[in-house]
Amino acid sequence: MYKHFKIMGAGPAGLIAAITLARENYEVTVYEKNKECGMRFKGDLQGLENWSSRVNVLDEIINFGIETNFDCDPFCSLIGVDSKRQTTKFRSQQPFFYLVKRGYLPGTLDQGLKEQALELGIDIRFNTRVHEDEVDIVASGPVPKRLCAIDTGIIFETDAEDMAYGMLDDANSYKGYSYLLITKGYGCMCTVLFDKFSEIHQQFALVRETFEQITNIKIIKPSIVGGYGNFSTKNTFVKGRQLYVGEAAGLQDLLWGFGIRIALRSGYLAARCLIEGKDYAAEAKKLFYDSSRASVVNRAMWEYMGNSGYRLFLSLGRRSKDPKEFLYKLFQYNAWRRLAFPIALWDLRRRHTKAGY
Ligand SMILES: Cc1cc2nc3c(=O)[nH]c(=O)nc-3n(C[C@H](O)[C@H](O)[C@H](O)COP(=O)(O)OP(=O)(O)OC[C@H]3O[C@@H](n4cnc5c(N)ncnc54)[C@H](O)[C@@H]3O)c2cc1C
Repeated sequence: MYKHFKIMGAGPAGLIAAITLARENYEVTVYEKNKECGMRFKGDLQGLENWSSRVNVLDEIINFGIETNFDCDPFCSLIGVDSKRQTTKFRSQQPFFYLVKRGYLPGTLDQGLKEQALELGIDIRFNTRVHEDEVDIVASGPVPKRLCAIDTGIIFETDAEDMAYGMLDDANSYKGYSYLLITKGYGCMCTVLFDKFSEIHQQFALVRETFEQITNIKIIKPSIVGGYGNFSTKNTFVKGRQLYVGEAAGLQDLLWGFGIRIALRSGYLAARCLIEGKDYAAEAKKLFYDSSRASVVNRAMWEYMGNSGYRLFLSLGRRSKDPKEFLYKLFQYNAWRRLAFPIALWDLRRRHTKAGY
């Protein structure tokens, strides 16, 4: 049966939904308010995490029918830095994550998905802002009023070798974390905060100083990047005839703000539900509720831990036989997380009254 689907937003969630529908010969139009895909980012390096499932994230994406026609570098080692500047090296047989670039330049995830969409004949209307009522799938990204995390930092050129550092210290990354990622002479250093948003620039200045001292890297031609994210336990999966995917549905990992894998999964799921006539809200609840609730418990715990807790976390990770498996277990909604969930949610809502938890 002929059907023309309309999608709001050409981010990862919207584009994978469009590609999935077009592969089944549906006509698809994607409306994007910006003049290009990926304008939310400016070349930031982001991690396509490979720890929340035992299925390799690239295999999962390929199973969704997506080609990896974007820069995508596996990272099997990661260095943690604690508040005493002690470093802990983690190694894994399988990549912890794949580094991807975000933005409107060649090689980014956003441009790779755009090219695949255009090859399938999908009509992407740039510079076109639409309203939710006009589309079938809402993939418009974060909602500012549900702000739960902000991120600021720099991208730069460097002659340093590839590396990935994560820093856990409430003195410079309050209740969040900071990271330094370098791949093929291209670097990204950022601080992510889940609280005290007004201090982000001072905190990032301290982070930059610390990373420069620890690694001795030369930062060439830095330019500023950053953004914000949101999360909600009151996910809107369906409203009227619209299906909501990615961050527009409030989907995000609340512990550390990883959202690409979830955005891709939800966009694919929504499209499959349209194709197969399945109930998307029911399927999305099955797929996302447990991990979303586990991330609420993890965030509440993280905020209580503070620096000594982060040091314990790094030490437990180091002592585990397989640090990737250690992370996998962190994201499982097991019996104790189920018990802790109502208290964790109550506590987060009490402490972060403006976030849309
Ligand atoms: C600084 C930063 C670092 C991050 N790092 C990571 C990381 O390392 N790993 C990870 O997994 N996740 C990370 N995330 C989160 C991740 O980027 C997002 O979760 C993911 O991009 C969400 O995809 P999406 O398709 O739902 O939304 P988006 O990528 O935001 O795409 C939504 C699109 O909709 C468009 N749009 C919005 N409104 C309209 C409208 N009215 N009409 C038409 N178009 C519209 C927007 O312009 C945009 O192009 C990071 C986020 C930030 C801010």
